Amino acid sequence: MINNVRERNPMPQQPVEVRCKNFDEVELGYTAADAIREAMRCLKCRKKPCTQGCPINQRIPEFIAHVAEGDFEGAYEIITDRSNLPAICGRVCDQKTQCEKNCAQAVRGEAVSIGRLERFVADWHAARTPVAAASAAPSGKKVAVIGSGPAGIACAGDLADKGYQVTVFEKLGFTGGIMTYGIPQFVLPNTVVDREVEILKGKGVEFVTDAPIDKKKSVDDLFKAGFEAVFVGNGADVPQVPGGIDTSLEGVWTANDYLTAVNLNQDALPENIKNAKHVLVVGGGNTAVDAVRCGRRLGAETIMVYRRTVAEAPARYDEILHTREEGIEMMELTNPVEAIGENGKLTSVKCEIMKLGEPDESGRRRPVGTGEFKTLPCDNLVLATSTSYSEDVVGTTKGIDKDKWGGIAASADGATSRPGVFAGGDAVTGPATVVEAMGAGKRAAVSIDAYLSNL
Ligand SMILES: Cc1cc2nc3c(=O)[nH]c(=O)nc-3n(C[C@H](O)[C@H](O)[C@H](O)COP(=O)(O)OP(=O)(O)OC[C@H]3O[C@@H](n4cnc5c(N)ncnc54)[C@H](O)[C@@H]3O)c2cc1C
Ligand code: SF4
Repeated sequence: MINNVRERNPMPQQPVEVRCKNFDEVELGYTAADAIREAMRCLKCRKKPCTQGCPINQRIPEFIAHVAEGDFEGAYEIITDRSNLPAICGRVCDQKTQCEKNCAQAVRGEAVSIGRLERFVADWHAARTPVAAASAAPSGKKVAVIGSGPAGIACAGDLADKGYQVTVFEKLGFTGGIMTYGIPQFVLPNTVVDREVEILKGKGVEFVTDAPIDKKKSVDDLFKAGFEAVFVGNGADVPQVPGGIDTSLEGVWTANDYLTAVNLNQDALPENIKNAKHVLVVGGGNTAVDAVRCGRRLGAETIMVYRRTVAEAPARYDEILHTREEGIEMMELTNPVEAIGENGKLTSVKCEIMKLGEPDESGRRRPVGTGEFKTLPCDNLVLATSTSYSEDVVGTTKGIDKDKWGGIAASADGATSRPGVFAGGDAVTGPATVVEAMGAGKRAAVSIDAYLSNL
C-alpha cells in the first residue's frame, strides 16, 4: 500500500543548541517505524528515475519495497549487490542532486528519503550482524591496493570476495582516507568507517599503515614482491593555496591539516586552534562547511567566505542547511587576497568583494573582482579551496600516463596505460565524491579479475 503523504518523515537530530557544543553525530537515524512509513511513500515507478540518478545505479525501488514490508535484511542484500559502503553513502551522498532529484514524489511534494532509508538499513544490519570471516576460495594471486579511501576499500573488498590475496598500503597511520581524517564525526562517525575496514580484515585483506608507495617503495617494487596487479587509489590530497595567502603565518591552515587535527587529535589540539576566537574558512564545498562547523563547535565565532553565492556552492544541501541552522555566517561574493599578520601571527584577512559574471566552463557564473576590498579580523584562516594530485606514485612509476590536468589517465573500467596497473577515485577524477570513488574501485576490481584470469 502506498502512503500518499507529500512530506518526508523528518530525520531525528540533535537540537541545534546542544549539537553546537559537541562532535557527536547530528542526525540520529530513522526508527524502524519511521523507515517503514517513509518506504511506503515510494510509488514503485516502472522506469526507476531514482536509479538512473544514482552514480552506481543502486536498485532503489527494489530495496525500498523490502523496507516497506519490514524485511530489512532483504533490503540490505539488495543494496549490497551494488554498494560496499551503504552506511557511509547513506550519510554522505548528495542525494538531493542525484537519486532524490529524480524522484517522482518530488513533483508534487518531497522526494522519498532514499539516503535516510539506505542508512537505516545499513545501521540495522550492522547492529545485528557481527563481522564475519571470509569464505571465498583462494585464487593464489596477490593484488596490491594503494590507499585505503573508498576507492581502495571497494576494490580490495570485491577482489577478496573473488579469492585474491589483497594487501592495502596506506601512507597514513590509520585507514579510511578522507572519510576518517576529513569528514568530521558529527557527519560520519569513524566507528562507521572502522567497521567497513574490519569487514575487509575478516575477508582476509591485509592493511599496512604508515606504508607510503613512493620512490623508496615503488609500484615496481610491489611487482617484484610478487603482486601481479596494482590498484592506485591514492586520492588527490595536495592542498592548493590561493595566491597572496602567506601560509607561514601562525593561524593559517590548510583544511586537510585543520580537519585532521580536529577530527583525530582533539586531545592534543594546537593552542591556536583550541583557543581561536574568530575562524574564517575559505571555500564553498563540503570541506569548507565541515571545517567551519568544527570551528563553531570549538567555541569560535565562525564565518565561511565564498567567492560565488551559496546557490553555486558545491557543498551538499543538507550540510549547507545544517551550517545555517548552527548560526554560522556564510559571506557570499567575498574572496580572500591577503593574509595579514603581526609578529608572525595572523590577525586579519583582506578580501575582495566579487560580483557574478558570465558562466564559466562549469556552467556556474564566474566570480569577477570589483576592485573593492574589506578586511575581516581573524586568528584562524582555514583554506578549503581545492586539492590536487600528488606525484608520489605516478612520478615514481614508469609507463603510467597522466591526463591534461595531472590526474592518472584511466579508462572507465580503471585500466591505465601500464598493463597490470589500475586506478580509480579522486586520483583519476580529481576531488569528487565517496560514491564515485567506490564505484571506480568496484569497476577496477572487475577489470583486475579479468586481467589476472587471462594471465
Ligand atoms: C573534508 C571533506 C569532506 C568531504 N565530504 C564529502 C561528502 O560529504 N560526501 C561525499 O560524497 N564526498 C565528500 N568528500 C569527497 C570524498 O571524501 C572523496 O571524493 C573520496 O574520499 C575520494 O576517495 P579516494 O579513495 O579516491 O581517495 P581518499 O579518500 O583521498 O583516499 C586516498 C588514500 O590514499 C592514501 N595515500 C595517498 N598517497 C599514498 C601513497 N603514496 N601511498 C599509500 N597511500 C597513499 C591517503 O592517505 C588516503 O588514505 C569530502 C572531501 C573532503 C576533503
Ligand atoms: S523515483 Fe521515488 S517514488 Fe519512484 S521508485 Fe524511485 S524512490 Fe520510489
